[in-house]
Order: sequence, then structure tokens, then C-alpha cells
Amino acid sequence: MAIKKKVVVKKVVARPAPKKEFSKKPIVAAKKDTAPAVAGKKQIQLLRGMKDILPRDQYYWKTVFEAAQRMSEDFGFNRIETPLLEEASVFMRGVGKQTDVVEKEMYVFEDRDMEKVALRPENTAAVVRAYLQHGMWNQPQPVKLWYFGPFFRHERPQDGRQRQFHQFGLEVIGDASPVIDAMVIQMTYLLYTELGIPVSVQINSIGMPEDRTRYKMELVQYYRSHRATICETCKARLMKNPMRVLDCKEDSCQPIKANAPQIVDYLSNESRDHFMKVLEYLDELGIPYFLNHTLVRGLDYYTKTVFEVVTSDEEQGSQTALCGGGRYDLLVEELGGKPTSACGVAPGIERLISQMKKRQVPLPARRTPQVYVAQLGDLSRRKAMVLFARLRAEGVMADQDFSKGSLKAQLESANANKIPYAFVIGQKEVQEGTVIMRDMDSGVQETVDFNKAPQILKRKLGLDKSVE
Ligand code: AMP
Repeated sequence: MAIKKKVVVKKVVARPAPKKEFSKKPIVAAKKDTAPAVAGKKQIQLLRGMKDILPRDQYYWKTVFEAAQRMSEDFGFNRIETPLLEEASVFMRGVGKQTDVVEKEMYVFEDRDMEKVALRPENTAAVVRAYLQHGMWNQPQPVKLWYFGPFFRHERPQDGRQRQFHQFGLEVIGDASPVIDAMVIQMTYLLYTELGIPVSVQINSIGMPEDRTRYKMELVQYYRSHRATICETCKARLMKNPMRVLDCKEDSCQPIKANAPQIVDYLSNESRDHFMKVLEYLDELGIPYFLNHTLVRGLDYYTKTVFEVVTSDEEQGSQTALCGGGRYDLLVEELGGKPTSACGVAPGIERLISQMKKRQVPLPARRTPQVYVAQLGDLSRRKAMVLFARLRAEGVMADQDFSKGSLKAQLESANANKIPYAFVIGQKEVQEGTVIMRDMDSGVQETVDFNKAPQILKRKLGLDKSVE
């Protein structure tokens, strides 16, 4: 039976408990990020461009991962995980030897068997490798896959650019319909907006290689007529990979870029119809997009639709793409399969989380402990450990500091973490087979049977209505 009056903890346990309101101040003082160097010892540091994901940020990662997972499952995607290390040729053939990613940024080395291997710089090529290797072309098409994991590029580290970063990705393999492009864009748009980041889509079509051959000739001719003004990078790109001149960020090249011939004017009827259909679907879905004629993307495998997502407030200013995606109708064949159309996207996670922080997006409520299990001395600690395990098995989230001896410190911890109830076990309770249940707000305590404690608490918490 519940005891309505306050019971002083002192009566039932070996050490006195505080009679007043427990201190709300945190028990552990916040520690600085960098520990002081130990004299004479060189402190080991992270590699340049790498970042630890510390406990304080993990809830962002969990929130984003769960949103990505839910989105993928809602649209019928299955998860795939490929290794971080692949034969380098997967990316050389897939992404393209002359792309920045492969030529300048990929971590490539010979392993102990003298095999040329690479840390994956992206995942589309690797997912296609897996699609072919595991005969997924035998399954009903399209095959819809999603992934979430780390990628590596040896880029110059700066804000929003790391050497190890993470991407969530969607790949739809085995379908040429423009509705697939629209679905991938829709999912990407929903991911950002549902996480509290207003975005718009920058979209273009770069057609098929035949469309591009005619376009590249015009583009090169146009840029050559401005040779005196364009930057050295553009000059080099004109020779190697002409469409990349449209990626140039140099101020002096901007007026030339603005008046450059536009790829859409060189698309075949088929490519143009495909693009128009994608835009019609986006219109229908109410997804804001901008036609960006200079969007070409840095990877060789793209065909037809290419897109990036930027935050709505940045759409006119200096833009950092939050994600990149598009159609890649020739990649499967390039990697040894039969002609197979496909489309995908890869949102970068660090840039997404950085936007969530910048905008102070509220995160979903965390699971918080419902009860704190406090103990005094070794015998009661053993019982407390059993009680903790039973609570967990009953679905009740409990907190504890079993290495601590002071009841005051333990109850302060419960208070600081705003835990509504505490179970206290002292020597007397061990002998009697009981436990004290304390309402942390009112301080009201009652002694309950040890074995019934989880059920009684569940009833108090409104979790178990079947127990009296
Ligand atoms: P990409 O695979 O190059 O199309 O990049 C897709 C997205 O991945 C970008 O929009 C970024 O959000 C992210 N990303 C790519 N490279 C990096 C990097 N070095 N550091 C951080 N994020 C990156």
C-alpha cells in the first residue's frame, strides 16, 4: 500500500540523504575538447581532413539515418552495403579516369597482394558492380537500393569538404522512365524538407553522348573565341573534358559562361522529351526547381537528367550543393552488364547536419530514463543490478551509476537528468526483499516488494494498466 507521507531516506539506508531539493547543477563539469598535452609526449592527432563524430553529435546522425531509412523503406527501397575498399578499376571505369574524383582525389594504393585497390570515393559504381556480381538483373526491375556510409576523397579540406565524409544514397537500376528521375528527386526533396531544411532543386539535362558530341564542338569553339580571357583551368578543361568549363567559379570566366551555348538546345528529341516529362512530374508534385544550364556534374557516368539540391536561401548566392544526382543509363554496360538504365542521388550527411545546426532544427524527443536505480554498498548493488536488468526486460528505461557509493550523489544525478522516479536499495531493503520507490518531484516514498517493483512502476508510469 502506498505511504502518502514523506519518508526520509536516512531511516532505511545506511547513509543520510539530502532532505531538501536536490541540486540541479550537472554532476560532471563540461570538459574541454582538447586535453592538455603531456610533457614530453607528442599527442597523436587525426589525419588532415578527417573528423571524429563525437557523442554530442550522435543524435543528429541517428535522426538523419532514421529519416533516410524511413524514406527509403516507404518508397520500397532495400538497403545495400558494399565494402569501403574496391578494386580501383570499379571507379576508374565507372566514374571516369579523367574526372577530378578519380584523377586527383581517389585514395589508391597497392595492397599486400599488389592489387590496385581504392577507398571508395562514391558508391554508384560500386553498387552497379554489386548489381552485376549478384545477378540482380534477374530480379524484377527496377532494383531499388539505398545505402548510408563513409566515402573518401583526398580533397583540400575546408568548410563542408572533408577527406572522409558520409553519404546517404538511392540507386534505381533497370528503368528508363522519367518518373524514376522524378521519384528520386521527390525523395531527396522530402528528406531535406522533413528534416527542417528548405531546399530547391537545380536541374539540367546533359543528354546522351551523341547529343554531347555536337554540343561540345560548339562549346569548344565558343570558348576558343574567348581564349584570351578565360582562366588556365578552363583552358586545360577545354582540352580534356570541355563541359567542365561550365563548373568554373573564377570571376573572370562568369560572363563567358553566362553566354555560352546551352546543352538543352542540342538534345535529341528523345532526351528533350525525357527532360520535359521529369519537369512535368516535378510541377505536379509542387517541388521547386530551377533550370541550371551550367550544371554538368563532375562524374563521367551521367546521362540525361542531372540535379543538385541547394538551400532555398542560397539558390541565388554562393552555392554549396547539399547533394548530387542524376541518370546514368550507360554505367551498367560500362561495368560489363547489358544496356540498363538507372538513376540515383547521394546527399552528403555532413552538409545536411551542418544545415540542421545552423537552422537550429529541433530534433525529435529523445528516449529518457524513467527511473534511476540507486544502491548503497555491495550487497544492495548486486540486487540493484538485477533490478536494472528486470526493468530493461520490462521495457522500462532506467539509469544508474553502480560504481558510485554516495546516495546523495546518485539522487543528484537522477535529479539533474530529470528522472521522475528512483528505486533505492539499502541493506535493510536487501534483507526484507523490498525496494524504496521515490517520486523525485514530490519526494514521496513507498516501500514495495522487490519482485513486483517493475510492474508497480509501470503502473505509475501509465505503461501497464493490467496491474493493480
Ligand atoms: P558527389 O558524389 O560529388 O556528387 O557529391 C554528392 C554530395 O556529397 C555533395 O553534394 C556533398 O554533400 C557530399 N560531398 C562530396 N564530397 C564531399 C567532401 N569532400 N566532404 C563533404 N561532403 C562531400
